[in-house]
Amino acid sequence: MGYINLYESQNFSQDVNETICNLARNNKDIISLYKIGLSVQGTPILAINLGFGDKKILINATHHARELMGTILLLDQIEYILNLYKNNLRVKGIYVRELLNQVKFVFVPLVNPDGADLVLNGISSVSNEYINSYYLRRNTFESWKSNIRGVDLNRNYLTKYPSHDTVKIPGAKGYGGYCYFSEPETCALKNLTEFALFDGAISYHSSGEEIYWQYNQLNIERDLHIAEKISKETTYSLVEEEEPVRGSGYKDWFIENYQKPSLTMEIAPYVGERKVPAKYYKKIFEQNKNVPFIFAREVYLSL
Ligand SMILES: [Zn+2]
Repeated sequence: MGYINLYESQNFSQDVNETICNLARNNKDIISLYKIGLSVQGTPILAINLGFGDKKILINATHHARELMGTILLLDQIEYILNLYKNNLRVKGIYVRELLNQVKFVFVPLVNPDGADLVLNGISSVSNEYINSYYLRRNTFESWKSNIRGVDLNRNYLTKYPSHDTVKIPGAKGYGGYCYFSEPETCALKNLTEFALFDGAISYHSSGEEIYWQYNQLNIERDLHIAEKISKETTYSLVEEEEPVRGSGYKDWFIENYQKPSLTMEIAPYVGERKVPAKYYKKIFEQNKNVPFIFAREVYLSL
């Protein structure tokens, strides 16, 4: 759990990308690194492959800017997996080396780099092109969820049953964009997903200690079973939704198009419209460190 110091970074996205590059450089036997796109302001969005298997699991974080604790969590999950792998250890009855021969994890720790920088460092992180945008005229960015164009990335995915809670103009949250997939950040995830054809996906968000797992899927028993396992591990509760379930987020788009299990995980107790205070992190890490293994095993067993 060594990456929480990045939470106060003056150059968050740059420091995260440097950390990812170092992880790749120091673990060439098991990690490969690639760029899946650029944010609106040109920051590389990086993905890490970890493992050797044919089954592929995506774990992403920080679609929503203020929910950037998810990025820290993913970096620590990677470090934790590397440690178990190197020492040939077993957790929850799972031999990690064996699992990594069957499964490949793909981590995208920072989907919305510009937004995360805005939350942490305010207007000084904004490029000349966007600095005078009307929607950025505000005193604080503590509650900001969108990207730097004021588009809520988790309302920018094209689905049959889109979210009802969208707003009409760019801003801190809820604006779905002038069209679906209008933003380079969501296109990066879309292209990666279409290329990799994942067997399952987790998107980390905050807060509320809840798991969203439904989106009108055909195999509801399978996905409920997997969500229950993750709920048991984390103690997070499963959200029950009315059909047809609505959403314009990654999970919704992924389930609709691939009919594979996908979760949205809300870490931390509910903290309101702000980033999760660092004091919650220790517990969050403990609750989530084994989630990639448990999710991968359940997805693997369900295939
Ligand atoms: Zn969110």
